[in-house]
Amino acid sequence: MELPKIKILDEKNKLLHKKSVDVKFPLSDKEKKDIKDMLLYLKMSQIDEEREKYNLRAGMGLSYVQIGVLKRIFVVVDEVEENKFENYVVINPKVLSMSEEMVYVGEGEGCLSINRETEGIVPRHARMTIEAYDEEGNLYTIRVREELAICFQHEMDHLDGILFTDKIDKNNPFKDAEIMREI
Ligand code: ZN
Repeated sequence: MELPKIKILDEKNKLLHKKSVDVKFPLSDKEKKDIKDMLLYLKMSQIDEEREKYNLRAGMGLSYVQIGVLKRIFVVVDEVEENKFENYVVINPKVLSMSEEMVYVGEGEGCLSINRETEGIVPRHARMTIEAYDEEGNLYTIRVREELAICFQHEMDHLDGILFTDKIDKNNPFKDAEIMREI
């Protein structure tokens, strides 16, 4: 596999703190290619051999703003079983419902744009239902839970210019741990 030529912005880049705008259909050829590239990049980052070859960090989700385009698109690649990947293309998403139950990633969230050690709790909803468009402009509804729900919320935050580190309480990084479930 050849690694797509995409450059992922670092948190210091101001674009990552800006709100992305809705996408218009049909998508341009460039937008379609960028989506393919982002999906392939994530998949390769999850395959040990490729990750080592290209010195990548493993990532599950990537938002369009992370490669410099302020449009409401993100992609997720979920390894459902060994070397079997599920792709999600999420465009102009809207939340329909979220669980009351809150969870957090015990070992901490990660982000391909944040290249430093971080610690603390990022509160997330355990389940969420959204509607969004696929790359052909078809509206669909999807319910996500657990790790996938966290990933979707993390990416939706990117579309609003929010990084996971913005959600950690600086004075008390492990605040409210007892009222949330660790996953
Ligand atoms: Zn991120």
